[in-house]
Amino acid sequence: MKYIPTIGLEIHCELSTRSKIFCDCPVSFGGEPNTRCCPVCTGMPGTLPVLNKKAVEYIVKAGLALNCEINEFSKLDRKNYFYPDLPKAYQISQFDLPICKNGGLTINTPEGEKFIRIERIHLEEDAGKLLHDSFDRYSLADYNRCGVPLIEIVTKPDLSSSEEAREFVEKVRLMLLYSGVSDCRMEEGSMRADVNVSIRPVGTDELGTRTEMKNINSIRGIARSIDAEIQRQTELLEEGIRITQETRRWDDNKGESKTMRSKEDAHDYRYFPEPDVVPISFKTEDIEALRQSLPELPNKRFEKYTALFGLSEADTNLLLSSVSLSNFFETTAQECANPKAAANFIIVEVLRRLNDTGLSAEDIPFGGNVLGRLIKMVENEEITAANAKKVLAEMFETVKEPEAIVAEKGYKIINDTGEVEATVKEILANNEKAVAEYLEGKEKTFGFLMGQCSRALAGRGNPKIVQDVLRSQLNKLKEGK
Ligand code: ADP
Ligand code: MG
Ligand code: ZN
Repeated sequence: MKYIPTIGLEIHCELSTRSKIFCDCPVSFGGEPNTRCCPVCTGMPGTLPVLNKKAVEYIVKAGLALNCEINEFSKLDRKNYFYPDLPKAYQISQFDLPICKNGGLTINTPEGEKFIRIERIHLEEDAGKLLHDSFDRYSLADYNRCGVPLIEIVTKPDLSSSEEAREFVEKVRLMLLYSGVSDCRMEEGSMRADVNVSIRPVGTDELGTRTEMKNINSIRGIARSIDAEIQRQTELLEEGIRITQETRRWDDNKGESKTMRSKEDAHDYRYFPEPDVVPISFKTEDIEALRQSLPELPNKRFEKYTALFGLSEADTNLLLSSVSLSNFFETTAQECANPKAAANFIIVEVLRRLNDTGLSAEDIPFGGNVLGRLIKMVENEEITAANAKKVLAEMFETVKEPEAIVAEKGYKIINDTGEVEATVKEILANNEKAVAEYLEGKEKTFGFLMGQCSRALAGRGNPKIVQDVLRSQLNKLKEGK
């Protein structure tokens, strides 16, 4: 490779507040066009914005989750630009005093761990949506999204490949999901990224000229746009053509980007302090209270699942991929003795069930503590693992308590050696051929006989006892032979 790529991301996430950032319109996704707006968020003259306190709390939580410092004093600024998605002709954003600064996250790369610095996270309002394609000669504007609170996370140019960018965005997404500040639904546009890319020749230090691709709304799109842009810039430099600093539009269907406009500079926006919103100042104890209110974050849980519970990284990531699933696992694990057994049961049995029915972890009709009680019954040898699966199926169907299902179906385990012996004798008598094969040295037949015995005991025989009894009876036959 002759060039080193450099990537910086600006990630926008809508905050999960109930109302918009400066008015009480609802923020929920969808809705008939222009039904979720009011004079404030459509910028009518004479209206005044009132800052949503929850939005401020959420950005602080996001900042803390992403290891940022919180500025004690912060203010909002006007960013002026004229475009029909923004009826006020300015966006209220933050310029020189963002709420959060100097954070970052560690990602895993093939070369080892790497810390990606976050320069700042600031608060701003979202713009409306323009529909260009429905009519030939004019566009339509939907202002439902206007005024939805957003955070913008700006990284330092620390990423060097599309894989690193993908890993970083996935980590940020998980942190925000666990913090409960954004639902990060990329397909609904509540999380999207601007991608800045440059390349420089190996052996040089100065960063090359960058281009920016705006509003990419899938992780796959982010990765593909980076690879395509590295490729495009490499070809230009190879031909001796200089890169121009510009904003490009990424077309995810075509897998290519096109020039959109030359890059604007900060002074083009004529930023100035927003006169209609009071500045924000924090007390240390307010910030500490928000820090305390954060749940255990996925990086902490990752350590716990792998180092303490002994789960594989793949299983850990699977459990962590959904907040509900991870919370469900945590409550299950609290109830029983062996967290690893609980994890396996959830991954194999519960997830299979969810996959088959198209449900997600939020839809599990019982709590993790209830599943924990079922697993504990297996741990305490009150029921067999095979019957636990049947109980689980019924828990999904009927929402009955596992203890009730076990009693009703007579799933209580058989630990009585005498009862097992009688059954085993019968099975051996009825399977002369298999027994003969076993006695001739075919060890494989043992499994077959084991299965016969378990079936005859209706899955209730304690497998350890069945195995012991079967083994000793076969040994007796062997000696008798
Ligand atoms: P602007 O606000 O004008 O887009 P910033 O300087 O705030 O510009 O940078 C925006 C993003 O571009 C940041 O994520 C930053 O890391 C990234 N960036 C800056 N310089 C480069 C570069 N030479 N190559 C790649 N990314 C860059
Ligand atoms: Mg930018
Ligand atoms: Zn409104």
